[in-house]
Amino acid sequence: MIAERLQSIQSELPSGVELVAVSKFHPAGEILEAYAAGQRAFGENRPQEFAAKVPSLPADIRWHFIGHLQTNKLKLVLPYAALVQSVDSRHLLDAIQAWGAANGRIVPILLELHLGAEETKGGFTQEEIMAVMDEYASGAASLSCVRIRGLMGMATNTDDEDVVRSDFARIRAFKDRLSALHPALADFTELSIGMSGDWRIALEYGATIVRIGTAIFGPRK
Ligand SMILES: *Cc1c(COP(=O)(O)O)cnc(C)c1O
Repeated sequence: MIAERLQSIQSELPSGVELVAVSKFHPAGEILEAYAAGQRAFGENRPQEFAAKVPSLPADIRWHFIGHLQTNKLKLVLPYAALVQSVDSRHLLDAIQAWGAANGRIVPILLELHLGAEETKGGFTQEEIMAVMDEYASGAASLSCVRIRGLMGMATNTDDEDVVRSDFARIRAFKDRLSALHPALADFTELSIGMSGDWRIALEYGATIVRIGTAIFGPRK
């Protein structure tokens, strides 16, 4: 079942778009089922669950961290994450920089843009991201241990497709603007948008990463 769902999604993804299978709340056995079907990128959103799963699963899995990360949980996540997608505040960014400096690591990240209407959702404002990118592009020592690979966003949780489209259009336009402002940042390329309910729409807006859980693993218990 998992294998068939994965295959069906993969068959619709253009080449160059990475499928992150969001395995949060699902046991290691189901991750192994997806792994056996060829899936290598998985996403988790809770540090404790992430740290517990990683050591028991194959070493060539590329783990994406996609949830809110408190600065006192960095050591559970940063040693193992191929990409931290959900960097949502300057406070967290500074803490990741400090961890990278202390551990001799450069941490690949995405900046999460606050999209949609929900106040409860995290993320930077566009103005905050503009400031971070100016600083990063200048080669500042304050951001020397992060590699900013692009933007992540979650559309408004709604059945109204027009609202989802306008969220995706906004983040896409903003990413294009940042790329135009900073042409020297050749690896600022990723746009992580699209979940089980809206990934096909996200592809129309230039998603390079889609994060899909329910449509692969079924409902979370
Ligand atoms: C849970 C989660 C997903 C996957 O959601 P589904 O609707 O199950 O595909 C994607 N992105 C983030 C940030 C998540 O927390």
